[in-house]
Amino acid sequence: MQPSIGIIGGSGLYSMLENATEVEVETRYGKPSDKISIGTLAGVTVAFLPRHAKKHTIPPHKVPFRANIEAMHKLGVKRIIATNAVGSLKPDYKPGEVAFFDQFVNMTYGREETFFDESEVVHVSSAEPYCPQMRAVAYKCANEAGIPAHESGTVVVINGPRFSTKAESRTFSSQGHHMINMTQYPEIMLAKERQMCYLGIALITDYDAGLEGRSDIKPVTNAEVIKIFGENVGKAKRIITDVVKGLPSHRACKCANSLDGALMTQK
Ligand SMILES: [Zn+2]
Repeated sequence: MQPSIGIIGGSGLYSMLENATEVEVETRYGKPSDKISIGTLAGVTVAFLPRHAKKHTIPPHKVPFRANIEAMHKLGVKRIIATNAVGSLKPDYKPGEVAFFDQFVNMTYGREETFFDESEVVHVSSAEPYCPQMRAVAYKCANEAGIPAHESGTVVVINGPRFSTKAESRTFSSQGHHMINMTQYPEIMLAKERQMCYLGIALITDYDAGLEGRSDIKPVTNAEVIKIFGENVGKAKRIITDVVKGLPSHRACKCANSLDGALMTQK
C-alpha cells in the first residue's frame, strides 16, 4: 500500500514500524539519505527515512534534503512527521520537554533549498510554514500522554556542523527565538513546495551555549544529555504513534494548495 505519511528522523525510530520492507528510491536530485522503510504504524502505512542515514554518517550541512523530500513525494506521501534534536534558547523550554515548531529563522547557507531553480519562477509563501492541523493534533496527543510540551516555538536553523558561540547563542536568544537546530531548513520549505503537510517535533536535549553560563540555569551534564536523549526517543515514538492514530484522514488545512498563485512564469 502507498504510504500517505512519511516520518523523517533519528535511526532510533526504526523499531516503530511493523512488517517493514526497504525500498531504494532514485530521484532527479539524487539518492535520499538512505533506503526508505515502508511498513505499518497503528494500522496505517507509513514511510520512514533516517535523515542522517542509518549509521549517522551524513552531517547536517550535507543532508540531501531535496532528494529526501522528492523521494517521499514519489512514494505518495502527503504528510511529513519530522523529529529534530534541538538546543533551547529560553529558560522555560527545558531539556526533556517537547515543542512543535510554528516558525523558523534560516541562518544556513549554500544549501540547495528549492525545487524551483530551473525554468519556473515560483515564490512560495512561508508565512505559516508548518501544518496547523498536525500541530494541534500533536499538542493534544502530547498532553494526553502526559509529555510536557510547548504548542509552538521558533527554531533558528544554523548551518553547522559546529555549535554556536556563546555570543551567537545570546544573540538568537535576545531576538526572542526559542530553539536552535541544524536540519529544519530547507527540509520544511521543500515539503511545502511539494504541497505536503509538515509537523516538526522538537526534542529539547540541552541548553544552548548562551544559556549555559547563566547563574539561574542549572548546567546540563553530559550524563544528563545522554539520559534525556534516550528518553526523548521514547517520547517521540509515543507522539508519532498517537498522531498517526489521531490524525483525521481529511487534510483540513491549506498545505495542499501551497503553490496556488505562487507561479510567476507565464505558461
Ligand atoms: Zn496541512
